[in-house]
Amino acid sequence: MSRFEDERAEMAALLKQRGITDEALLGVMQKIERHQFIAPVFSGRAYEDNALPIDSGQTISQPYTVAFMTEQLLLGWKSIPSGRDIKVLEIGTGSGYQAAVLAELGCRVFTIERHMDLHLQSRKLLEKLGYHIATRCGDGTVGWSEFAPYDGIIVTAAAPDVPEPLLKQLADGGRLIIPVGDLETQSIRILSRTGDAYTAQEAVGFKFVPLIGKKGWNGKQ
Ligand code: SAH
Repeated sequence: MSRFEDERAEMAALLKQRGITDEALLGVMQKIERHQFIAPVFSGRAYEDNALPIDSGQTISQPYTVAFMTEQLLLGWKSIPSGRDIKVLEIGTGSGYQAAVLAELGCRVFTIERHMDLHLQSRKLLEKLGYHIATRCGDGTVGWSEFAPYDGIIVTAAAPDVPEPLLKQLADGGRLIIPVGDLETQSIRILSRTGDAYTAQEAVGFKFVPLIGKKGWNGKQ
């Protein structure tokens, strides 16, 4: 039996209880060893439904937040024919956990982190765990135009507004999931693109670290 197997099963059960229904997603979150993505001192708390500190003053998102945002992406893809690659761009690699969830679901993942040390650490870990994920250090508020368009874009830090480049880099039929608000309270905006039209839904009750960059917040957070 692998380490923390019971805790992971309990975490998946809790996510289901909180309303996550996608079985593939629940299976992936039960499988991935979240404790590998945080410092050993926090291992014992890895499967609690909480955000935890990582380096550079950032956090690994709460499991429910990861599950909710990922499920919102998946809901947008029901119409994509099976067999074709699904490309996802993540802004805010942090620990690499969200990127691993997306890779386990079979997506081609591109992820950007602005802190060099987090970028290097997560890249090393994702490689060690056997994931083929394109990683980059830089300002994700301008997206990653080279590989656009993306079927999904997921931003894991809170923005003052939706960065225009991300809207442009979204594929027709794609979804952009992004926390928007001030530095205290945010809601998750779920944008769907059809041609050049975008529709939005909003979900409340989440908390994120700030998205800092050209089209994000200024500052040294
Ligand atoms: N997805 C991560 C969550 C990390 S918290 C995980 O699963 O662990 C959000 C991350 O966004 C932080 O690491 C922060 O440094 C990063 N970030 C903030 N602004 C950014 C920007 N403009 N471009 C890229 N990364 C950014």
